[in-house]
Amino acid sequence: MKKFLAAVLAAVLCMSVLAGCGSKAEDALPTEGVSEENAGASEGAAPAENATEDNGDSKEAAPAEDAGATEAAAVSEALADGVLNVGTNAEFPPFEYVNDNGEPDGFDIALIKAIGEKMGVEVQVDNMEFASLVSSIGTKIDVSIAGMTVTEERLNTVDFSNSYYEAVQFVIVPEGSSIASAEDLKGKTIGVQLGTTGDFIADEIEDASVSQYNKAVDAVNDLVNGRLDCVIIDKNPALVFQSKFDGKVTAIDGAQFDFEVENYAIAIPKGDAALAEQINNALQELIDDGTFDALVAEYIEGGNE
Ligand code: GLN
Repeated sequence: MKKFLAAVLAAVLCMSVLAGCGSKAEDALPTEGVSEENAGASEGAAPAENATEDNGDSKEAAPAEDAGATEAAAVSEALADGVLNVGTNAEFPPFEYVNDNGEPDGFDIALIKAIGEKMGVEVQVDNMEFASLVSSIGTKIDVSIAGMTVTEERLNTVDFSNSYYEAVQFVIVPEGSSIASAEDLKGKTIGVQLGTTGDFIADEIEDASVSQYNKAVDAVNDLVNGRLDCVIIDKNPALVFQSKFDGKVTAIDGAQFDFEVENYAIAIPKGDAALAEQINNALQELIDDGTFDALVAEYIEGGNE
């Protein structure tokens, strides 16, 4: 699974990190497997009745016949305190944002809380800079959920859960811009969120001058104020910003620029197989019992932000 994701994502890395790769179009790998898997994921019907609630009390010895949910025999040290410390960057609507009460909220936050509930642990969310997330895993935080794309480079430092969402980079342009193809991006002033896959892609664009922001919304503000030619950011935040800055900007599908499909997953400490298994089991239960789809409807399709 991981290998497969890595293979699919190699294309993204290839164009953003490695020297000497071919053009983006040539690097494109088939993504059907991933799509099918995601489709399967959101179609899941069979409710997992014998779910995990009991995981919390009897961490050491999960009853053997309580299938599925309690398959994970070992318990991660990260959960020894009964708390799953989660890092996010709440600047990425609809996946994460700060709500009216000043709390991190959004699809990812609801998902990780539901996962924590299945695992029988308390979930604490820490809002930090996106670029610090990966290096903080295993020290400051246990895991990260942040609309984070599985990339080969990140896989050198962390492991990832099974993927839970498929995305692609979009290009946000001012209304009336002539930018419409990969060719048009050459030599442009491009805004990105620091340390993201949009940043890596922009970095590879010929003669582009790249402005990195900690908050995506600041990039979009600079776009609206005429300081940038475009912003490269993931699909769903791009669509949120398009409606927030209605009439001022347009979000263009990255497929038009030959950008590759990306997969979001939860980043976990490298080698913590017990935690990976518990998270994957909980995620699968949420897919099977319909919770996952309900969260998609509430936060992503419902435009709740
Ligand atoms: N999916 C992008 C990445 O992983 C952006 C994530 C984000 O900005 N939260 O780099």
